[in-house]
Amino acid sequence: MYVETSIKPSSRWGMTRPKKASVMTCDSCSESFVRKYSAHFVTRGLHFCSRKCSANAGKIGGAKNIKSIVTCRKRYGVDNAQQNASVRAKTKATNLERYGNEHAIASTVVRKKIEEIFDSKYGCHPTQLKATKDKMIETRIERYGSAAPIHDNEDVSTKYHQTMRERHGVDSPLQSKEIRKKAHTTKRKNGTFNESWVERRVVRVLRAVYGDHGIEQHRRLNGWDIDMYIKQHELYVQVDGVYWHGEGGSPDAKPGTQAYAINAKRLLDSHQIEWCKCNGEKMLRLTDKELNSMSDQQIIDAVRTVA
Ligand SMILES: [Zn+2]
Repeated sequence: MYVETSIKPSSRWGMTRPKKASVMTCDSCSESFVRKYSAHFVTRGLHFCSRKCSANAGKIGGAKNIKSIVTCRKRYGVDNAQQNASVRAKTKATNLERYGNEHAIASTVVRKKIEEIFDSKYGCHPTQLKATKDKMIETRIERYGSAAPIHDNEDVSTKYHQTMRERHGVDSPLQSKEIRKKAHTTKRKNGTFNESWVERRVVRVLRAVYGDHGIEQHRRLNGWDIDMYIKQHELYVQVDGVYWHGEGGSPDAKPGTQAYAINAKRLLDSHQIEWCKCNGEKMLRLTDKELNSMSDQQIIDAVRTVA
């Protein structure tokens, strides 16, 4: 907020000339600060003492955020311009013209550019940085009192599952065949499957025996993403983490809890086994714990036994 402009004589290098300075109050932290007079700066709606205060003001409830809501309500009758159908249509048309896609982020040109920037700035995607991860956890704890609010915060959990049911008719995303299929396609396209160390070891061991092309990773079977498929034996191999595939589940657990997730995994495991039996598919399941105590040869033997 602008307060006043003062003109004071200033002497520099032995010459005296008047100097105009403006006093402001920061619209974010309310501290007062002085800037060299500039008509452009003075007539601005909001004033900030630092970049940090300016960035904070853009957050929910900040001065910039409030100002933008007021403007949007006046212009479009909604809090966010993108909630207005005609604004949305215009944005889509512009993106289509500029990037060949209704959503800029879906354009390969834009994605490539973003990746280049991330790569040169951070050497990876910023969400992979430890500092970012720590910050995300800190924010969740600050806002919801937990690092995993979907599990621990009742309001967040209820809202999440309610939205899932409304949009996809299921409690959690992995229960939807449609979502699973989409996630699988995306991961295959981007090469971003989240493989565990044990899983990579099994792939390496089996490739040594059956060749690079003899093992197919992330083969789809009845909508499931199965870790490995050995072409020669027509055998599916699944590596299970004992934590998620072991004890600790409860059929009475509430959706969103770990016990519920573990129980859901167990039900899925037994359903998969049953399904494979009925459909004449061979599947070998090994837990990460078992694999850790197995030698490479023992893994190969285990495969040969079921094959
Ligand atoms: Zn400030």
